Amino acid sequence: MVFNERYWARIDRWKNITLEEFISHQWQATLEKFLGEVVPETFLSSKNSRLAHITTKAEFIQDAVKGRKGAPMNVTITPHILSLIDWSNPVDDPIRRQFIPSESGTLTDHPKLAFDSLHEEVDSPVSGLVHRYPGRALFLATSICPVYCRFCTRAWAVGGDTETVSKKPKKPILRRWEQMFSYIENNKELHDIVVSGGDCYYLEADQIAFIGKRLLEIPHIQRIRFASKGLAVSPGRITDASDPWTKQLIALSQAGRRIGKQVCLHTHFNHPKEITWITKQAADFLFSAGVIVRNQSVLLRGVNDNIETMTELISKLASINIQPYYVYQGDMVHGVEDLRTPLRTILDLEKHIRGNISGFMMPSFVVDLPGGGGKRLASTYDSYNETTGVSTWTAPGLPGDKGKRVYTYYDPRPLND
Ligand code: SF4
Repeated sequence: MVFNERYWARIDRWKNITLEEFISHQWQATLEKFLGEVVPETFLSSKNSRLAHITTKAEFIQDAVKGRKGAPMNVTITPHILSLIDWSNPVDDPIRRQFIPSESGTLTDHPKLAFDSLHEEVDSPVSGLVHRYPGRALFLATSICPVYCRFCTRAWAVGGDTETVSKKPKKPILRRWEQMFSYIENNKELHDIVVSGGDCYYLEADQIAFIGKRLLEIPHIQRIRFASKGLAVSPGRITDASDPWTKQLIALSQAGRRIGKQVCLHTHFNHPKEITWITKQAADFLFSAGVIVRNQSVLLRGVNDNIETMTELISKLASINIQPYYVYQGDMVHGVEDLRTPLRTILDLEKHIRGNISGFMMPSFVVDLPGGGGKRLASTYDSYNETTGVSTWTAPGLPGDKGKRVYTYYDPRPLND
């Protein structure tokens, strides 16, 4: 990480873009416009035989546009993220793989995949409030994000409709939120609320303040987590003194501390390249203001599924005082089979990385059980047949029928490349 490096200037068209313009979170656009600006006329051929034929700008854009037609998520991306892609080899780039689809890279879905594999809708007593565990609930405040991740577990709700998915949006409107607050107020066993979406970065500052204050006023709510990928994909907003979003987050964190309640930020980095000097400045700013930041990564094939990359990611997060909290097995959702890994991968990563990282910075490697069984440590499966790729789990701590069920995770079909 080189302090003050203008890393975006590696893209020819952005040579004269100033730091102020670059870090503005408003400077973003959709697929064709940015690809037209950033993709070089020719580049290296992929190591993957299915993608090796894509070596020119025209082929790349055509393949991405066709890939988007079948994808469950739209493509929206920030300049920060686009500037981190290695455009001399974009097809194999781990950041490109997360955000820009490729028709040639798409694999047929496993028959057991689902749009809402975690059964969040079924577990929502009120629209937008997922209540699965005894003490905690998920408050889906909005369904808009600063970027759209191809592998989003909430593809059934997040972002605009695509050619293959009609979404069930969770709009940021008071009438809907009031029903969710009312449920939380009436359920005194709830102590923890995750405010997510979509992404809290796309709530207005006064909306974040309103939600935070309402929750802090509820006597039985002890902890609030705001979930946002913003720090990872548009860190400049955190360091922009004129932007009120961070001020409100810090004010809530401090207001919580004064009354013995925790208000944190949960963010989402998947690759060490995503951490730049601007990210460090933003993380340092939050740390100095006393905001606790934790990270939740998703394990993705061709992105972070090897020991070196995952170790570097965890170490870099720790070095900027972001707690590496979870590494998730990829969820069994439609349209991203090329990104899922077998259970064996997460088991091996955990085994090799433990011991190289201080224990308190070691994330939990987990599987969010399909069917709503919640997160379990990957190593606590009840059975795993690596030949069939089927693993089973139980979650005896959950109440009622959920605590008695057997949950099944299916590995992706084996690949040779
Ligand atoms: S930022 Fe989070 S909610 Fe938004 S698309 Fe990515 S994974 Fe989904």
